[in-house]
Amino acid sequence: MRRRKLVEIVAAKRIDSELARHERWPRQQLLAYQRDRVDAIVRHAAASSAFYAERFRGLVPKEGHVDLQALPAVDKQTFVERFDDIVTDPSLRSDELLAHVEAADADVLYRDRYRVIATSGSSGRKALFVYDRPAWAMLMGGFLRFNRLAGAKPSIPRRKLAYIGASGGTHMSRRISSSLDVGMHRILNLSATMPMPRIVDELNRFQPDIMPGFPSLVAALAEEQLAGRLRISPGIVSTSSELRTAEMTATIKAAWGVDPFDLYGVTESGMLACECDRHHGMHLFEDLAVVEVVDADGRPVPDGDVGDQILVTSLDNRTQPTIRLAVSDRVAIDPDPCPCGLSLPLLRSVEGRADDIIQLPSGNGRLVAVHPMHFAPVAKAREVREFQVVQEGSALNVRVVLHPDADARGLERRLAGELAANLRELGVAEPMISVKPCERLARDAATMGKLRLVVADSRR
Ligand SMILES: [Zn+2]
Repeated sequence: MRRRKLVEIVAAKRIDSELARHERWPRQQLLAYQRDRVDAIVRHAAASSAFYAERFRGLVPKEGHVDLQALPAVDKQTFVERFDDIVTDPSLRSDELLAHVEAADADVLYRDRYRVIATSGSSGRKALFVYDRPAWAMLMGGFLRFNRLAGAKPSIPRRKLAYIGASGGTHMSRRISSSLDVGMHRILNLSATMPMPRIVDELNRFQPDIMPGFPSLVAALAEEQLAGRLRISPGIVSTSSELRTAEMTATIKAAWGVDPFDLYGVTESGMLACECDRHHGMHLFEDLAVVEVVDADGRPVPDGDVGDQILVTSLDNRTQPTIRLAVSDRVAIDPDPCPCGLSLPLLRSVEGRADDIIQLPSGNGRLVAVHPMHFAPVAKAREVREFQVVQEGSALNVRVVLHPDADARGLERRLAGELAANLRELGVAEPMISVKPCERLARDAATMGKLRLVVADSRR
C-alpha cells in the first residue's frame, strides 16, 4: 500500500505543477481549456452512462462545442438513487459497493481500481461516490493546490497535520489525508465526535503545524487555547464544510494569530475553491470543475449576485460523471479579480450550510454547536432509509423513514439513547430527544427536492 501511495503522490504533485500553470494563464485561455474538457466529459457520459445517454438524447452534437446550459440539471436525490445507471462501468453495483464501504476501514481500493466513499450528506440518504485512480489523482492534486496557495509546502522535517473531522474511514477528507500520509505530511486523524478534553490532550501531544477542520469545531478549539487548556501554535488553520462566521474568524485569529483559510468542496466533485493568502474570497478551480451560480429555477444569476444554488460539473470523474448537479449552497462569483493576480475567479459568501448547525444549551448557560455528523448513529442504522432532525426549542425530534421490511422493535429507544449520549459528551446539559417513525419526509421544492437533514429552530 505504501508504494501505491507514493506513486499516487508523485502523480498528484505533477498535476499540481500543471494546475499552477493554469492559474497564470489569461482567463480566456482558462475558459477555452474548460470548454474543451466539458465537451470531452459530456460526450463520454452520453456514450457510456445509461442515465446520461437517455437524458442527453438529441442534445449533444457530434462535432463542435457542447452547450452545457442546454443540458438538464440533476438533483441530489436522483443522483443518489440512479447510481447504478449513472456509472460508466456497468459492473459497479450500489449494493456491493455499500457492503465494501461497510467492511473497509482504511484506504482500501475496490477491485484494485476504485476508491468508494459513502456519506449521509445533507440529504439524509446514504450516497455513494466512486473515483478511479486518475480521478483520485486529480482530487489529490486539488488538495495539493490548496496546500500550495496556503503556503504549506512540503518540508524537512515533515510538517505535522492534525485533521479533526467526521469519524469513519470512508469520509472524503479522511481518505485524502490517509492517501497523503506518506512522504508529504505526518497526519493525526481525530474524530470530531471525541470528547473535547481528549482532543485537546491529543493536540497538545502532537503539536500540529497545519490544522484543517469544521469552523464550529476549530472555533471551539480556539476557545480552549484562549482558556489556556490547549497549547499549540499551528502556522496554518483552515476551515470547510460549514459557514464560518466573523465571530469564529475573530476567535481563531485571537487564539493563534493566523488568518484561517476557507475551503469549499462537495463530495461529488472534491475541492472546488480555496482562499489564497490575501483572504479576499475563495479561488474557484475552473480547470477542475464548472460551477454555475443559478436561482431557484435554475436560471443563471449575474456575477456579484448570490444564487439560490449551484450546478456543479466535474471535469475529471469519468466513472461517475457529475454533470450539472444541483447543490443548494448560496454563493456569488466576484466580478473583480483577486489582487494576488491569479486568473481563477473568486467565490464569495458560501451561506448554504449554516442552518445545518443546531445550537443547544450547555450547563454553564452558553450554547453548544451541534454539527449534523453527531447524528451519525441514525445515519448508520440499517433500519433507517432516511431521516430528518427538527429542533423545537431545546428539544430535538428525529423523524425516521424505515425500510419496509425493517424490524423496528426497540429502535426508537436505542437511537434516542445513543444520540443523547453523543450530545452529553459534547456538553449539552439535558438532551431531549424523541425518535419517531413516519411514512415520508417533506422535501423543499425551492431546493430541487433536497431534503434538509437538520431543521434548526429559527426562533432561537
Ligand atoms: Zn488570490
